[in-house]
Amino acid sequence: MMAENVPLTTIADAVGTPAYVYSSATLKRHYEVFEQGLSGMDSLIAYSVKANSNIAVLAVLAKLGAGADVVSGGELVRALKAGIPANKIVFSGVGKTRDEMRAALEAGIYQFNVESLPELHALNECAVAIKTKARIAFRINPDISAGGHAKISTGKAENKFGIDITTAIDAYAEAAQLPGILVAGIDMHIGSQIVELAPFAAAIDKGLELIKNLRAEGHDISNFDIGGGLGIPYVEDADAPPLPIEYGRMIAEKVQGHNLKMIFEPGRMIAGNAGILLSKVEYVKTGGARKFLIIDAAMNDLIRPALYNAHHDIEPVAQRNSDGITTPCDVVGPVCETGDTFTEQRDLPDMQAGDLLVIHSAGAYGAVQSSQYNTRPLIPEVLVSGDQFKVVRERPKVEDILKTENIPDWV
Ligand SMILES: *Cc1c(COP(=O)(O)O)cnc(C)c1O
Repeated sequence: MMAENVPLTTIADAVGTPAYVYSSATLKRHYEVFEQGLSGMDSLIAYSVKANSNIAVLAVLAKLGAGADVVSGGELVRALKAGIPANKIVFSGVGKTRDEMRAALEAGIYQFNVESLPELHALNECAVAIKTKARIAFRINPDISAGGHAKISTGKAENKFGIDITTAIDAYAEAAQLPGILVAGIDMHIGSQIVELAPFAAAIDKGLELIKNLRAEGHDISNFDIGGGLGIPYVEDADAPPLPIEYGRMIAEKVQGHNLKMIFEPGRMIAGNAGILLSKVEYVKTGGARKFLIIDAAMNDLIRPALYNAHHDIEPVAQRNSDGITTPCDVVGPVCETGDTFTEQRDLPDMQAGDLLVIHSAGAYGAVQSSQYNTRPLIPEVLVSGDQFKVVRERPKVEDILKTENIPDWV
């Protein structure tokens, strides 16, 4: 199995396992397919940095003209450093601190997606203090159920995100009074891994209705940010989320004639299937109730199965035989948690200790959610382009981890 033109065995030999491997050609293809789907609309694609924030990944997207959706001051620094211009950056998130707001104002970002009235007032104060204005959209909670899992559904009234659509008119009236605030649009992000168009369509209808009412109140609404959330296939040849072209066409039809700049914040759709987690079978344990493949990757490297019950296709890098015979296996990591399980009772071809395997669709919400639990150092990230590859995040040494810790002299 190859990543572009590089055999995965070559990467495993060079950097060790486990490791994330990303394809720049696939990142590019996903970005371009998304962009083509939006043709005919005045739009900004603000890639959701939290899906995969590696600075090399951001740089690939920056070259294609992408903007960025950031949710922290750290992500803002990354996006700028990767070459994404400030005037293509939007800042989302329910708990922006004043320090983060100041940094974003000083950088001159395009838009703040504001999630509450207290946040609005904090932002106003920060902007006034440095004699500037913050362009804002309120994040509206449209009370729509979407997203493949309760932990990634964000647009229901009981979720922490955004302001209630029923009180939005009042919030805009308040914002319009503030000297440091420039009201420019509305924003929504209803969830992630959404595999049908209907929730997006319903949210857009609600948004357009609100925009009509806001304009009638005299607000100059020019931007409609509809967030991210378009799902991707995690099971090969099985689940088929809408294509970007279908998503784009549906939106274009709805917003046509409304004189809006559309902002999109795709994350998973760009990065998810542009990356794999490359791992190695450490031991095969049989003899009990189940057959376990104990691999060298763990929940601290890829937490999606433990956190969201997520499915990832798993495949050996090289088939041991072509007889098509599979046996039910549990694929588990070495961490001391039962939740450190990538799959249970999955029919997999023969794999032996030392064999390399691939966990697919790991380019989004993989490396970014990793931790050093069990003092397992963060694993390398590798970016491939054609027949070249480069380590774009290095594996820290245990000594590097321990350097940040101190034993007080009074212990
Ligand atoms: C996570 C997130 C996104 C990206 O979602 P995907 O499902 O990865 O496309 C976009 N906007 C906001 C505000 C988010 O929190």
